[in-house]
Amino acid sequence: TKLVYMFDEGKRDMKETLGGKGANLAEMTRIGLPVPFGFTISTQACNTYYDSNRKITGELKEQVLSSLKQLEETTGKKLGDPGHPLLVSVRSGAVFSMPGMMDTVLNLGMNDDTVEAMAKLTNNARFAYDSYRRFIQMFSDVVLEVDVYFFEQHLEEVRERKGYTSDPEMTAEDWKEVITGYKNIVKKHTKRTFPEDPKEQLFLAIQSVFDSWNNQRAIIYRRLNKIPGHLGTAVNIQSMVFGNMGDDSGTGVAFTRDPSTGESILYGEYLINAQGEDVVAGIRTPQPIQTLQNDMPDVFQQFIDTCKRLESHYGDMQDIEFTVERGNLFILQTRNGKRTAQAAIRMAVEMEREGIISKTEALLRVDPDQLNQLLHQRIDDSYEFTRLVKGLPASPGAATGHVVFDSDDAEALSQEGKKVILVRPETTPDDIHGIVSAEAIVTSRGGMTSHAAVVARGMGKACICGCDGLKIDLKNKQFRVGDTVVNYLDRITIDGGTGEIMLGDIPMIAPELSEEFQTLLQWADEKRTLGVRTNADTPEDAKKALEFGAGGIGLCRTEHMFMDATRIPIVRDMILAENLDERMAALEKLLPMQQGDFTEIFEAMNGHPVTVRLLDPPLHEFLPDKEELIVDVTKLQITNPSSHELKEKEQLLKKVRQLDEFNPMLGHRGCRLGMVYPEIYMMQAKAIFYAAADLLNKGLVMEPEVMIPLVGHVNELKAMRQVVEEAADQIEQETGKKINYTVGTMIEIPRAALTADEIATEADFFSFGTNDLTQTTFGFSRDDAESKFLQHYIEQNTLPENPFMVLDQEGVGKLVETGVKLGRETKPSLKTGICGEHGGEKSSIEFCFEKGLDYVSCSPYRVPLARLAAAQATI
Ligand code: ADP
Ligand code: MG
Ligand code: MG
Repeated sequence: TKLVYMFDEGKRDMKETLGGKGANLAEMTRIGLPVPFGFTISTQACNTYYDSNRKITGELKEQVLSSLKQLEETTGKKLGDPGHPLLVSVRSGAVFSMPGMMDTVLNLGMNDDTVEAMAKLTNNARFAYDSYRRFIQMFSDVVLEVDVYFFEQHLEEVRERKGYTSDPEMTAEDWKEVITGYKNIVKKHTKRTFPEDPKEQLFLAIQSVFDSWNNQRAIIYRRLNKIPGHLGTAVNIQSMVFGNMGDDSGTGVAFTRDPSTGESILYGEYLINAQGEDVVAGIRTPQPIQTLQNDMPDVFQQFIDTCKRLESHYGDMQDIEFTVERGNLFILQTRNGKRTAQAAIRMAVEMEREGIISKTEALLRVDPDQLNQLLHQRIDDSYEFTRLVKGLPASPGAATGHVVFDSDDAEALSQEGKKVILVRPETTPDDIHGIVSAEAIVTSRGGMTSHAAVVARGMGKACICGCDGLKIDLKNKQFRVGDTVVNYLDRITIDGGTGEIMLGDIPMIAPELSEEFQTLLQWADEKRTLGVRTNADTPEDAKKALEFGAGGIGLCRTEHMFMDATRIPIVRDMILAENLDERMAALEKLLPMQQGDFTEIFEAMNGHPVTVRLLDPPLHEFLPDKEELIVDVTKLQITNPSSHELKEKEQLLKKVRQLDEFNPMLGHRGCRLGMVYPEIYMMQAKAIFYAAADLLNKGLVMEPEVMIPLVGHVNELKAMRQVVEEAADQIEQETGKKINYTVGTMIEIPRAALTADEIATEADFFSFGTNDLTQTTFGFSRDDAESKFLQHYIEQNTLPENPFMVLDQEGVGKLVETGVKLGRETKPSLKTGICGEHGGEKSSIEFCFEKGLDYVSCSPYRVPLARLAAAQATI
């Protein structure tokens, strides 16, 4: 089998065989760019090496030697030849570029003989001995694993002894002295002499590249980036060119466009009279690429032309490494350059306009996941700061403010115009006014679906949850992380995207929807067939989502309207009601409030469809915490046994105990509330229809979609549908307005998906609630799973991903697919969507497209991501 390829035998699409670097070196050779000649040992050879117990096989050895011979013939030089020595670099190169692999070895082939030849040929002994000592140092470090520190120490000692302050003062004789010392260091640390046979050097270096494929750094990097371990790395052997031959030589790197802004300008740096890694090593400060125009005008022009050629050849921004040897330009590497989200968008749009790529390609150039960075205020990374502690990144965005520990403080201070960050062990519906007032929320307990997390995400506010490194002392109004104490009103900064908390103020960058971003999203809209809606419970969210291009609301949750601080007392009256009359009285008070909410949201949506979900959470969520109540009651029994307050609290506690459930997630919630208390759903439905009638009065159209949650059996939906229809009839009669509406259900119980054909007889639409559907399909309660065992599952590869973030296509996805299929058998026109958090995740969006769903619905800040991902799914 062929294991080695000369540079002129390969091309760009051979990455799997030649690695990224090798394939591009071959491609550049093929199109006639000045690339020092060489050959590439394939990734298969690396795998064979491992299959043969880390031995270089005879076959590989033979092929390397014959390729070497070809290289020698082409260059007219020979490895180890004392007259015309060939020197090479040995460079690793995996299929995906991978830091952590072996570092490059330069100047391989040098020894006591060839260094003399180099000195004579270049007429520059100083240069030759400098190169030799660099080689010994690099080879020893990278291949023989002797710490560079020993070499640096020795060099320093010689330099000092000679009274020099910098390397350029060293003469050839001085370097010879250094070389002798270097060889002694190698002998001392490896118990052998430095290998002077160039072929031995070559095979040792090759082996070292193979070995580096499985070093710790590389393994960890692969795991983090999900790169399979069986790919192996290629090895590139390339004849050397020298950027350190004097002032007409140099080396540098450049991007064909600015990788941080995307602007179309050459962006890079170079050093005169330097070799290889000197530019990145930071020993000398490099110069901006533009000044190369003055230093070497001809080379600069040639380089500009080459950059343009490479960029249009690859159709993407290139990251290019080059070296100039005595006025001659050589290209040593090119690859698609890494870039920020902002730059990715600008480049994609501008390249389309320049005719380099098509719109379709432009759409594929931007990773939807990257967009998140752009839609929230974020921390300016160019600033140095230390992190205090880390929790769960529950809701992205960054914020700075004064620390407060209770919601009343948060509200009071924010009314004074102060920015605050609410820090709590956890939050409850009683904290809503605090959450609304705060810039961001931090809790020490609770997971990604805790109250704080859900509410914060809904509001687009930064939030960190479950930060258990943070010890909160509510009594003394302070928190502690290790020895650090943070007091009430101290300033902190949090990054909800990473979960990090920092002391003090950290500079921020505001979110920007650039003109190019808008353009790209417009192109996405032209391409996509999948609808994108948003999950929004407030007019503010609705407006934000419209701004971001949502086509409607796919999930408007009504419980948040119940949690408003001013309504909680009425909601509690409703729950505590001893009989229907009492409950109706409370509901009567709630009705106009809900109606007002709906009117505002419907108006904000300006004719776009809105799906309203009727009450879903168990009622105890609107009541105070049981433990706290017990403490209060006990206290009052001692201090004020005959008080009215005690009576009230005792009654409340009784109700809390009645409502207590063994497993609230599977308890009395969703349509099960509506089944037992139809008057609650009736009130909500009336509020919806009154609001719709209101809009009709104002000449606006709104056709509400009423959604019944947690249906498992068609009879549940049938009963609830009747309630909704009754409400509609009543309001139509009362207002004289004909309201067009639909009734549908959330599919979030496996039974509903499996009997979707029956359910569809009562439903006008299905919305897959994949958060609950994932819980009920796996039988995982999300909070318990995420805090107790899911991480373990993912680390052990039991599950590939967190199924609450990335839709489990084989299991939960199969239920979605079944639901769509069965539902449409009954009702071909059935509208289907997804409203779980998966609606904002790109692979799940692609799945929804493939299974023929009509739309996805996600949080307002994810709408742009979903638009792009929906377009990419169609390509
Ligand atoms: P990395 O993957 O870490 O960038 P490279 O294999 O690209 O490592 O090598 C790093 C640098 O070494 C190159 O940018 C180039 O400056 C220098 N280099 C590599 N091969 C040669 C060569 N044949 N001649 C001159 N310099 C080289
Ligand atoms: Mg490189
Ligand atoms: Mg649900």
